[in-house]
Amino acid sequence: MTEILTQRTAADYAEQVGDVVQRLAGRIATVERPFSGAARDDLQRAVDRVPLDGSGIGTRAALAEIDELFVRHAVWFHDPAYLAHLNCPVAVPAVAAEAIVSAVNASLDTYDQSTSGTLIERRLVEWTAGRIGFAAGDGVFTSGGTQSNLQALLLAREAALTAAGSPRGRARVEAQADLVVLATGYSHFSVQKSALLLGLADDAVVLVGSDDLGRMDPAALEASLIALRAAGRRPMAVVATAGTTDRGCIDPLGDLAEVCERHDVWLHVDAAYGCGLLVSPTRRGLIDGIERARSVTVDYHKSFFQPVSSSALIVRDGADLAPIAWHADYLNPLANAEPNQVDKSLQTTRRFDALKLWATIRALGADGIGAAFDRVLDLAAEVHGALAEASDIELVGTTQLSTVLFRYAPAGCSEAEADRLVALTRRVLFESGRAHVAKTVIEGRPCLKFTLLNPETTLEQVLAVVDLIRATGDALLDAEHLDDVDLGAIGLGAIGLGAVGLEAAR
Ligand SMILES: *Cc1c(COP(=O)(O)O)cnc(C)c1O
Repeated sequence: MTEILTQRTAADYAEQVGDVVQRLAGRIATVERPFSGAARDDLQRAVDRVPLDGSGIGTRAALAEIDELFVRHAVWFHDPAYLAHLNCPVAVPAVAAEAIVSAVNASLDTYDQSTSGTLIERRLVEWTAGRIGFAAGDGVFTSGGTQSNLQALLLAREAALTAAGSPRGRARVEAQADLVVLATGYSHFSVQKSALLLGLADDAVVLVGSDDLGRMDPAALEASLIALRAAGRRPMAVVATAGTTDRGCIDPLGDLAEVCERHDVWLHVDAAYGCGLLVSPTRRGLIDGIERARSVTVDYHKSFFQPVSSSALIVRDGADLAPIAWHADYLNPLANAEPNQVDKSLQTTRRFDALKLWATIRALGADGIGAAFDRVLDLAAEVHGALAEASDIELVGTTQLSTVLFRYAPAGCSEAEADRLVALTRRVLFESGRAHVAKTVIEGRPCLKFTLLNPETTLEQVLAVVDLIRATGDALLDAEHLDDVDLGAIGLGAIGLGAVGLEAAR
């Protein structure tokens, strides 16, 4: 008995998926913390115990098993105490559309595998290009910002090599060795990774100086471009970030565009985080100048509240996508009149992620999405304001989007202790399941990080997590030597977290 989705099994499919959705809705409605707090060893044993070579147990049993094994211990991005990474709670219309995406299973490489799917993706690419301010833009949906950045730099590399006279063979390899990409220390690590994948020299990514919020300094960029050219290097792209992952700060796009235009260098704007500003009713001005970029990365799965994956690379001039195109007789021969997206993509078989965004825009309106992102940014401003008042919290800089960087440093706590508390606090909270915060290092100094992306979270709920951080920090500081704290021994009871409770704030 197979369980392949066909005419014969359509009714079973409806029943099984219906059951899964009911069970999941029950969990989502009753989640009380971002994570169950299960120990990793226990989860490892539970996963290892499942026999993968035995006979099947049937769909119903398999899904019930998954509910116990995974869903019960999932990390819930919609929980108000989930404040760690750039993960958003997801829009209901997008999740519903996701059901269509996998059941129909269209593949967006060619028209004959997707029909209006290709046309819908094209409309959304055009729509996004329009929001950026590209009159004749084009692009393609990708698996994420990492892939979008890789593709942008690949296109920039090809443009630079074309400008260098399209050398071939060994001469191309030699010309490639001269290429450099300019970014900052706050650019996403996919820039470095892309340079490696693209076969650039190991010193190809040059970091440009930035201001006190980590934003690229246009004068420093100009000086670097001049110095690099004088040294015989060939700048192939400048990567500006519209919303740095750690700090949520936006490089000065207009001024950087000015420099790039003057020096004829490809400007790529990595707006993986800040792309929600494209639909913000109040803050679109923060990314003015983005229309002067030659390529832009947008991650709808960050600030458009889309389920993973949903991302795109958008270029100002569709002709820039040409180097990606290869033609296969069986797929997209040159003499084919049908539209296809595979010519523009690094992938071949590709998910119809665009449908989720389409559903969301139609259901909520672009303004509705932007207003939700605005609420998140307002919340970040409120949290900054509240923490600035607290004498036991050191805020680290400020944000233009929705991150909050800070350290807990009560009176009498040394710098070294405050440094040490960061990682310990994050870990105790994560392992307890009560709150999920991130940690990072800014200018050599460890700090905790909130990344706010839930428009329904309130200031009180965030401040309740700050209270958990205080309670955890105090309990850790009470331990004799921070360096030998046995975290396993610090149970929730031991640090009094039971008494702090998030419930009051819910
Ligand atoms: C998240 C992020 C990326 C990577 O995007 P993925 O979707 O995780 O691949 C790239 N750049 C910035 C600025 C990001 O915040």
